Amino acid sequence: MTQLDHTHDPARRSWVSSANGHADFPIQNLPLGWFSPGGGTPRAGVAIGDMILDLGAAAIFLSGEAAAAVAAAKGPGLNALLAMGAGPRRALRLALFDLLSEGTPARLGLLHAAADCTMHLPVEIGDYTDFYAGLYHALNTGRMLRPDTPLVANYKHMPIAYHGRASSVQVSGTKVRRPNGQRKPGNEASPSFGPSRNLDYEVELGIWIGPGNALGEPVAVGRAAEHIAGFCLLNDWSARDIQGWEYQPLGPFLGKSFLTTISPWIVTPEAMAPFRMAQDARAEGDPSMLEYLFDAGDQAQGALNADLVVTITPPGHAVEVLLHSHARHLYWTPAQMVAHQTSNGCNLRPGDLFGSGTISGPEPGEAGSLLELSRGGREPLALACGETRRFLQDGDTIALHARCAREGFVGIGFGACVGTVVPS
Ligand code: MN
Repeated sequence: MTQLDHTHDPARRSWVSSANGHADFPIQNLPLGWFSPGGGTPRAGVAIGDMILDLGAAAIFLSGEAAAAVAAAKGPGLNALLAMGAGPRRALRLALFDLLSEGTPARLGLLHAAADCTMHLPVEIGDYTDFYAGLYHALNTGRMLRPDTPLVANYKHMPIAYHGRASSVQVSGTKVRRPNGQRKPGNEASPSFGPSRNLDYEVELGIWIGPGNALGEPVAVGRAAEHIAGFCLLNDWSARDIQGWEYQPLGPFLGKSFLTTISPWIVTPEAMAPFRMAQDARAEGDPSMLEYLFDAGDQAQGALNADLVVTITPPGHAVEVLLHSHARHLYWTPAQMVAHQTSNGCNLRPGDLFGSGTISGPEPGEAGSLLELSRGGREPLALACGETRRFLQDGDTIALHARCAREGFVGIGFGACVGTVVPS
């Protein structure tokens, strides 16, 4: 796992004053993104406080591996930079940390106000895999279908996943157009086609693939972290009525592929180094994992210490918290997902994206989807504003946030992953 160094020192501050005390982007974070300054062409950037550092413009102050990393970030998107792996990415972090540290000359010309910029997808996403590693989500949804055996037999033996649709992964802020599709509730004799009545969100972590592997060459779990370039938030919007009618026998399709929203910033493994933690011990009676999924280092440090918060803003009302959850509720680590997906020889490529699966906690108020919070829509959720929700209504805005905190370190965040529902 990534080592701690002076870039994690909580005493260090930036000459970018808004970075000091910033909830998401202090100088200890330095996430990578792809942005346009007002009216400008898309380019590589790094979030620092309320500003975005233009990486290309900063290149004249960089040398060696850091300069090579910026040279690779010519676009479109950051795929070539992600492909370089941890060495150049860490060199870039060290150089930018120096460039932006208090005590070095303030170079305001390298910065754009984030509020005046447009964020884009950070990479060209080749493939997108959605896992199902949130244990309590699998238990909650499984109970609705199979009260006696909520988990199917394979769940604790391998990270379950399906291949999602990369073309409809979009950046935070993209409108969520209510999809049309076939719906067939249990109380209707035949299916009809029309707007989804059961539109839902799913709070997930996104995992960005770095170098990747050649076809036919699996990535060992102990080396899998080298292939993870960073993390984001991911909202796997789900039309439950379309999903429920179509998913057998081959799994999710049109109930998922209309849109997936991600937060725009790639939070690097280097920034996350203080916020790794041991994977929760398996419950008594759980099967031991097969050898290709077990690595002692991964079990000791492979989980992510990230608090997750989901808010809803109903139209005409104030923002309110829907739920809190935590990334520790994933039954499999990101490294195990990489090892499992490549175990048959499948090749991952730079800029591929994983969704972790919906991350619900064990408590009733920690459910990562409305499907769970409203118990399949049967028990409408009472909001603080006085309204109720079975599922999302037009005009609702859902925002995901992640916060990483640890005693003795400056906390970091991921930036928001936001979407507002609009009529079909
Ligand atoms: Mn999902």
